[in-house]
Amino acid sequence: MARINRNYEKLPGSYLFSEIARRTAAYQEANPDARLIKMGIGDVTRPLAPAVVAAMHAAVDDLAAAETFHGYGPEQGYAFLRDAIAEHDFAARNIAIDPDEIFISDGAKSDCGNIGDIFAEDNVVAVCDPVYPVYVDTNAMAGRAGDYDTDTERWTNIVYMPTTAENDFTPALPDAPVDLIYLCSPNNPTGTVLSREALQRWVDYANATDAVILFDAAYERFIADPAIPHSIYEIPGAKTCAIELRSFSKTAGFTGARCGYTVVPRDLVREGQSLNAMWNRRQTTKFNGASYVIQRGAAAIYTPEGAAQVDETIDFYRANARTIKEGLAAAGLEVYGADNSPYVWCRTPNGTGSWDFFNRLLEEANVITTPGAGFGPAGEGYIRLTAFGDADDTREAVERIKRMLDAESRD
Ligand SMILES: *Cc1c(COP(=O)(O)O)cnc(C)c1O
Repeated sequence: MARINRNYEKLPGSYLFSEIARRTAAYQEANPDARLIKMGIGDVTRPLAPAVVAAMHAAVDDLAAAETFHGYGPEQGYAFLRDAIAEHDFAARNIAIDPDEIFISDGAKSDCGNIGDIFAEDNVVAVCDPVYPVYVDTNAMAGRAGDYDTDTERWTNIVYMPTTAENDFTPALPDAPVDLIYLCSPNNPTGTVLSREALQRWVDYANATDAVILFDAAYERFIADPAIPHSIYEIPGAKTCAIELRSFSKTAGFTGARCGYTVVPRDLVREGQSLNAMWNRRQTTKFNGASYVIQRGAAAIYTPEGAAQVDETIDFYRANARTIKEGLAAAGLEVYGADNSPYVWCRTPNGTGSWDFFNRLLEEANVITTPGAGFGPAGEGYIRLTAFGDADDTREAVERIKRMLDAESRD
């Protein structure tokens, strides 16, 4: 008899986005004329950069002729892309990362889940609260999370680090020992960043305790503040304690094209084993490499033309984020994030619950957001808005929210 992975039975339903979709559909059905503006889900809307599209077209042509055809590529990714990443994402910031420390993948979500393959089941995992749910659920599936407690909405074996306005969105070091630490900066969902000093504290902690940091830098290109590190490897000591996850999804519009990469430094050793060698073994055994066409497209991001086009799109989203943040602040709301991120994290007025405020925005402003409570208990009392929409819609959504709050304060 085939027995199943019983850990899957412990997972609570993925309630957040299905519940948002359900409430949205019910409202639209009852109000067919309402024009809803979606600022909920974290997906990009702008097309791929022309340089990327041209490179992908040319790569398809390569596959169309026997002389230039490519079959299986290296599981770790093509040298043309790994070299470009090492040069532009790292050497340009005075970080020495070798191409063979870079592993190209079909995206950071897969890598976030797959990286657990090289770690023991009894590692203690620490996450920020609120959190990108993938870190938690993949560890639950692997048996590292214990049991889900529906009262606290937390897993019994996961260490949650509250990350809220009260601690300036900078989690404190845990008071009990932990082995694997997930950090995400710029953060999803809060849109806030970790300072160089905060990251140094984490690196020092991880080196002192032999923990490993899993640093998710999926939003790295949104950083505008020159003081904020783009990579954990800007922090002295990080190469002996950190793995970095990167994605072209939000930075270059690859959510549909699919490409990302993970950096595992050769200096990262635990229990006498090189994690770089272990990850290489994992990838060569279970992964046959990202698509040639997509890797050619990703490499075009590193050409001067491609980089300029990608920056233009990032600036477009940044302008939306500013519109949201400034508009909501002017309306009297407490807002965070946005400056180095496509996300705006907004405290609900007068202690309103996340879902209640979500409902009011849906019904009174026809704007769809994401309730912060969906990202973890410490997200209660906040909502997340995304800057990935159309510029006119973004302005209109902010105006509608302002009108809604004005009307209320006159009542
Ligand atoms: C969107 C996102 C990713 C990227 O996922 P892909 O699989 O590369 O599309 C990774 N981490 C966080 C926190 C994200 O929000």
